[in-house]
Amino acid sequence: MYINMLTEYVCPNCGGHEIKLFYEARNVPIHSCVLLSTQQEALNFSRGNINLGFCNNCGFISNFTFNPTLLDYSVNYEDQQCFSPTFNSFVQSLANNLIKKYDLYGKDILEIGCGKGDFLILLCKLGMNRGVGIDPAFIPNRILSETSEQIKFIKDYYSDKYSNYHGDLVCCRHTLEHIYNTGEFVRDVRCAIGDRLNSIVFFEVPDVTRILREVAFWDIYYEHCSYFSPGSLAKLFRLSHFEVVNLSRNFGDQYLFIEAKPVSNTSIGIHKLEENIKEMKEDVKYFSKNCRRKLDSWKKRLKHIYEDGLRTVVWGSGSKCVAFMTTLDVKNEIEYIIDVNPYRHNKFIPGVGKKIMPPEFMKKYKPNVTLIMNPIYCEEIREMIKDMDISTEIIPVE
Ligand SMILES: [Zn+2]
Repeated sequence: MYINMLTEYVCPNCGGHEIKLFYEARNVPIHSCVLLSTQQEALNFSRGNINLGFCNNCGFISNFTFNPTLLDYSVNYEDQQCFSPTFNSFVQSLANNLIKKYDLYGKDILEIGCGKGDFLILLCKLGMNRGVGIDPAFIPNRILSETSEQIKFIKDYYSDKYSNYHGDLVCCRHTLEHIYNTGEFVRDVRCAIGDRLNSIVFFEVPDVTRILREVAFWDIYYEHCSYFSPGSLAKLFRLSHFEVVNLSRNFGDQYLFIEAKPVSNTSIGIHKLEENIKEMKEDVKYFSKNCRRKLDSWKKRLKHIYEDGLRTVVWGSGSKCVAFMTTLDVKNEIEYIIDVNPYRHNKFIPGVGKKIMPPEFMKKYKPNVTLIMNPIYCEEIREMIKDMDISTEIIPVE
């Protein structure tokens, strides 16, 4: 699966020309968080190909056959995660830490890719801040709590046309990995900041290092065209005239945080979390070598459970689930997916077209096996299952 070095591709992160393609997934649904009302619509959902390539210069990984014009985040995009106590406590502590560390009291916050606005509202509430949130998937009547008049939401994609909006904190969580031209995007953000050198930027993205080392093929999907390691993320910010203030791994080492401040000249400081290209190459090689084996072992496992006449459900209907099911081409082995987000219930996931049900459905369906898409939620789910008095074997997908 390790294919030769290609020269026709250019790294969107650093402009490098030495790209090695190493992973391919064909005909995968282009969206994983868009939900459909019927199974047929879900089965007919638009598809695209993934061809991951690794940049030999900066270590960035990108889908080099990604077509951004296929995607539309403005309709039925269901990405809200605030229905899980585990997730809520993670964002609460992140908001508190940012506010304390950067003295964000009575300040201006700009959030690029604010989703349904939960995090921005939290930052504004906790620090009495003013906020502007920009996201094509924003839904005005979805806001669950009362918001002050100090917060403005714009339902659109961020671009240089919004460079008049500024923040003492510019935050951007789980958005950069959806953007192909990462270099251009971060430079646009830097440009908008201009000479306000006291601003701080905070970006959060998934860490590809874990995906590669755990051979987590379910974390590779079309919506995510850009995959960062600490090294490639830090390099991107340095190249765009930011100085890296801090770089860290969070949420069970699944997410990368970067805190950076705008500078006039290119900074040279390397953070201790940054890996070198040789280490990245090793991780990519390991993933390539072990991917087939991992896919086959999951396929066999699901087939055996089904052939034994047992019922399996997947808990967690987000992108991981869609990628897991489509990459394994799940047919009859799994019929239902469980999720705590009420906006997802009775909808169908794109691709394999399985139906999403609330946790209470488990009482009626009595699944023998429950696969947990993100092991970080295991304890929370175990508790819910215990409370419902259901006997099912819990298997974390890892
Ligand atoms: Zn590069």
